[in-house]
Amino acid sequence: MTEQNILAFLPVLPSGELVGSAAELLGAAALIGTPVGVLVTAPGKAQRAAESAGHYGATAVFVVEDDTVSSTLTAPAADALVTAGRAVGAEAVLIPDDVDGRDIAARLSVRTQSAIATDVVGVHRDDEGVVAHHSVYGSMFTTESAPTHGSLIITLREGSVENRAPGVDPKIRRLDLGELPSQSAAIIEFSPSAEASTRPDLRGADTVVAGGRGLGSVEGFALAEELADALGAGLGASRAAVDAGYAPNSLQVGQTGVTVSPELYIALGISGAVQHQAGMQTAKTVIAINKDPEAPIFDIADLGIVGDVFEVVPQLIETLKAKSS
Ligand SMILES: Cc1cc2nc3c(=O)[nH]c(=O)nc-3n(C[C@H](O)[C@H](O)[C@H](O)COP(=O)(O)OP(=O)(O)OC[C@H]3O[C@@H](n4cnc5c(N)ncnc54)[C@H](O)[C@@H]3O)c2cc1C
Repeated sequence: MTEQNILAFLPVLPSGELVGSAAELLGAAALIGTPVGVLVTAPGKAQRAAESAGHYGATAVFVVEDDTVSSTLTAPAADALVTAGRAVGAEAVLIPDDVDGRDIAARLSVRTQSAIATDVVGVHRDDEGVVAHHSVYGSMFTTESAPTHGSLIITLREGSVENRAPGVDPKIRRLDLGELPSQSAAIIEFSPSAEASTRPDLRGADTVVAGGRGLGSVEGFALAEELADALGAGLGASRAAVDAGYAPNSLQVGQTGVTVSPELYIALGISGAVQHQAGMQTAKTVIAINKDPEAPIFDIADLGIVGDVFEVVPQLIETLKAKSS
């Protein structure tokens, strides 16, 4: 391994598969050094996940198989990253920017006295080391941050880095965390969310269809759901739609909701307030349908359709269905 080892923490699903953002985390690591994966799984689940990590470019994978992993919150992951980081002299650590990831990153930062950069949308290396990119002030500016000394812990916004690393046959190294005295909250009971959906997760979806107050009612919002299903897209909503009860809070896109960076974002009956734009402005392509030609969403849309969603969207769905049949 070179001196520029970059750790990527790769969460493993109960099925033993890596989370969808694993390829992106390793692709980002490859932009700034040698990608090294770190996995924490229940016993018996590590081998397949480690091989997948190699497929996504991890030259080495540190593996912890721990039977407390399903009953302990985040501490084993922080322990694994501390140990792996020391073993390879990691220059940076990449972690998904989600609820668990931010918790792990904070623990790791305190434990290793390292700088932390959150909600990062890109990385590069300059003469002095690793630099993180941030999209700030409602995505109107991009800024950069770098540590003055030591390694950098980065939580990476899903969907923001396109680079992918070539597959390799990774060296798999098992870690034993037995002696690390981490304190952690225990999971006493687990019940799956009642909102189970077959749609892709909003944060990682390639395409997102989002509905706003312009859909007018819960029944009207069903049009956004129908278009999302026709496109195999994730579903989002503006805050006004959430506040009006058309959609659950978990679907809110924006400054006080979820931030998404899909390939395609389709906004239906959304005015495009700056607080909404803050959560979707890094989408690669934006299509907006709104009956007000002056709506601010058209300022950032690549394709704008001035029209009534209840006239335009059913035609769109019909065309998509006709094409797929
Ligand atoms: C601190 C703070 C944080 C906030 N955080 C967020 C956030 O995270 N996310 C967020 O979204 N907002 C947020 N907001 C609220 C934000 O300012 C807007 O109020 C909100 O985004 C508006 O939602 P909307 O576009 O759905 O509704 P509106 O602004 O009411 O727009 C509805 C749009 O639908 C169009 N329309 C109506 N009928 C039709 C039709 N039949 N066909 C086509 N178009 C139609 C109208 O022309 C209009 O442009 C925040 C506000 C504050 C102060």
